[in-house]
Amino acid sequence: MLGLSVAAAGAAVSRPLQGSALRPDPSGKKLKILVAGAHPDDPETGCGGTMLRYALAGHEVVAWYLTRGEAGIPGTSHEEAARIRTAELEQACKILHARPLFGGQIDGDTEVNRARYEEVRKMMEQENPDIIFTHWPVDTHRDHRACSLLIYDAWLTMGRKASLYYFEVDTGGQTQHFQPTDYCDITTVVEKKHEACFAHKSQKIKEETYPEYHAKMEIFRGLQHGCKYAEAYVHHEQSPRAWIPG
Ligand SMILES: [Zn+2]
Repeated sequence: MLGLSVAAAGAAVSRPLQGSALRPDPSGKKLKILVAGAHPDDPETGCGGTMLRYALAGHEVVAWYLTRGEAGIPGTSHEEAARIRTAELEQACKILHARPLFGGQIDGDTEVNRARYEEVRKMMEQENPDIIFTHWPVDTHRDHRACSLLIYDAWLTMGRKASLYYFEVDTGGQTQHFQPTDYCDITTVVEKKHEACFAHKSQKIKEETYPEYHAKMEIFRGLQHGCKYAEAYVHHEQSPRAWIPG
């Protein structure tokens, strides 16, 4: 009953679908968007709909993975888990029209030190994105916090030029104290986002974390934004505001 009423309310207030999905950046510039996550599935579950909306609007989307999820399949060696999870993320990126890129660290054992800051700064200088999305730093997972700090430091040392936004994952369970400033209406692309997230079969996302977290987050953020499904962000106020679809 609740599901029906939420769906009905969402349908009534959703924005025009096809038009907004293809609306280009008003400046006409082709943007480069870098979405940085600690593990395979973090960019997809946090920003998958936004990534696809940028790609459909003609922009370049890069998914950067700090690790390959080496510790993410119980009973499996790091090497084998990395192989399985890399194949899964490649499938997800194909669905989202994103280019995968890797940070070369190890899941559950990520480091934040001078050498690692340097590595990430070099990657960022090479990619030179217009817009960066990364983990909100108040998070129960150490790797998520490490990813957030490494990207933030690169953004600082590059002169705070790129637009910087923070995304949420498993809010309540992992992301904490997250008060969004910006939203992306993902109603038109939500099924494709699900397809990309569910490509991570080894993580049982479809069976476990999606119903428990992400499905609720999409609907809750949609209610806040006035559409059926949304993803939410915190904008760093010292970075330029970017065009976010819907
Ligand atoms: Zn993660």
